[in-house]
Amino acid sequence: MPANPAPTLGTSALPAPREGIAGAAPYGAPQLAVEHALNVNENPYGPSAELAAAIGRAAADAAVGLNRYPDREALDLRRELGEYLAAESGIPAPAAESVWAANGSNEVMHQLLLAYGGPGRTALGFTPHYSMYPEYARDTYTSWVTAERGPAPDFALGVEAVTAAIAAHRPDIVVLTSPNNPTGTALDLEVVEAAAEQLAGHRGLLVVDEAYGEFRRDGVPSALTLLPAHRNLVVARTMSKAFALAGARLGYLVADPAIVDTVRVVRLPYHLSAVTQAVARTALAHREELLGKVALLRTERDALAAHLADRGHDVAPSDANFVLFRAFSDRDVVFRALLERGVLIRAVGPAGWLRVSVGTSEDNTAFRTALEEADPR
Ligand code: PMP
Repeated sequence: MPANPAPTLGTSALPAPREGIAGAAPYGAPQLAVEHALNVNENPYGPSAELAAAIGRAAADAAVGLNRYPDREALDLRRELGEYLAAESGIPAPAAESVWAANGSNEVMHQLLLAYGGPGRTALGFTPHYSMYPEYARDTYTSWVTAERGPAPDFALGVEAVTAAIAAHRPDIVVLTSPNNPTGTALDLEVVEAAAEQLAGHRGLLVVDEAYGEFRRDGVPSALTLLPAHRNLVVARTMSKAFALAGARLGYLVADPAIVDTVRVVRLPYHLSAVTQAVARTALAHREELLGKVALLRTERDALAAHLADRGHDVAPSDANFVLFRAFSDRDVVFRALLERGVLIRAVGPAGWLRVSVGTSEDNTAFRTALEEADPR
């Protein structure tokens, strides 16, 4: 990313950023104008013209009151998110007091680390993991430690590996991601249960990041079902992926109301704008349409994984809306050759592996065609 091109006016020394920030680059995948953007696990299907108009009307209604601060507690939105989760996962609807919402699950996680991490505290994750976790830790002066997931191509994570890592590090926070980014791997609930029980022994927090939860295969359960039994468990979700609402920035968590109250202490006042709340509530009211492409995306994901395996690639089994596979040749060369053909994917995960998001049928066909040339067998 180019540095800010503003002219230098003065000659005095610039202030020194704190340790860890000085010289660091802002996180983010390239935002390039390409025909087939398959690099950040977005939902490729935008809202219909009718739904876009309904969202616009909701924003206009909210605009009339924009001289006032928004509802700080967003209780209507939080209650409706709870109702959605009940329908999605078959759990009793969590009350608004058990749900918390913020600007993307990025902000939700940041707030959790602010409240439960901090100087002298440790958070544990399992590699390969989502790239932002160490940054939440850095920003909150929390130590970030890792253990490894199992070997490729399954990248499995079992009870033994998790409990051994918790015993070794005695972390204040453990982040388990299910389905995991970038591998797509979902977790067995016995792993979540074992981690929650072990952490409870020293009052540790377990965060299960289910950003891709709605894409899990049939029969794969959500950690939401474990919430009533484990007061130290938080399940984080987002409207960015299955809900096709990445641009609105709405993430949320479900947990014991005491955890939600603790997060409320560290949130900035009025963090969730009135427009965001109105847009998210309208999207929730139209969830049938927005979530309507999830089944198709799951089918396309399975077809994409099968196609890559047929070509002879190593492929990580995926419960998410992306597939991680091992390139035959240098992954950076393959990445660039795909980009030259209008297909943007992501060079992320273990050395040699590439991640491709599931797009429209047209995107997926373009990717397959481009890959024949970019990474010949
Ligand atoms: N968790 C995981 C595992 C992710 O991959 C992402 C986004 N790529 C997020 C959280 C953050 O999503 P958002 O802030 O858009 O809700």
